[in-house]
Amino acid sequence: LCSKCAFITYYLQKGYHAPWHEIGGRIGMKILITNDDGIYSPGIAFLAKVARKFGEVRIVAPDVEQSSMGHAVTHSRPLSFKASPINFEGIEAYRVNGTPADCVALGTHLYAKTDVVLSGINMGPNLGNGMWHSGTLAAAKQAVLLGVKGIALSTPVGKSEPNFPAFENYVEMVLQLLLEKPGLSLFNVNFPPQPKGIRWTRQSVRLYDGKIVPGTDPMNRKHYWFTVTPLEPAEEGTDRWAVENDFVSITPLRLDLTNEAELQAALNGQS
Ligand code: MN
Repeated sequence: LCSKCAFITYYLQKGYHAPWHEIGGRIGMKILITNDDGIYSPGIAFLAKVARKFGEVRIVAPDVEQSSMGHAVTHSRPLSFKASPINFEGIEAYRVNGTPADCVALGTHLYAKTDVVLSGINMGPNLGNGMWHSGTLAAAKQAVLLGVKGIALSTPVGKSEPNFPAFENYVEMVLQLLLEKPGLSLFNVNFPPQPKGIRWTRQSVRLYDGKIVPGTDPMNRKHYWFTVTPLEPAEEGTDRWAVENDFVSITPLRLDLTNEAELQAALNGQS
């Protein structure tokens, strides 16, 4: 800690969070990081390491994995946070007994001047219609609902864990690009294992890969897995196409779900 930040130690000893203070990286932003894989995920540690080049970083993440929880919020019990047992090399970090969306609500409450929320890096892709289930993306959505820029970051996982350093320069490039953009916005970013470039894309909505697969347990009782099945190649220009072709995919999203054509047709029919 620098001498300027000595009060952080004081607050931590007292059990209070520290407010934002001025250190500043390349862009000097106040960056809140969360995820849905939980505070122990290597993906969040890697993201924090890259993000600190762009400003001051805080971590507020779920204490256990919350993947595929979507935009769930906790309303029937109180939330609390504890200091992270993981050492993020000097970054203030907390684990929360809640969902990714809870973490963003709590994190932006504790750090009122947050400029941007980064969510990830998720261990698994968040592409196409799979976005609906994503806790990673929900955290970024929650940020936007609360008036803060939100960026979700994900990467596919094969048989072994992701080799994050293999695409570190692309994470840095994407953050440079998106953090400098003015205004409130929501982005969904997916990194292939070895990127050869960056593409702006749209969400692939033609197919859905969620499926029930029946099976039997060791006691011969029937059970069911909700899982994802491989899809045929995606249309060019979509998020899925980009990652299938080794490009980093950046999709700008919006939260207005209104079907404009349907609405217009209905309104026209009324008149
Ligand atoms: Mn996840």
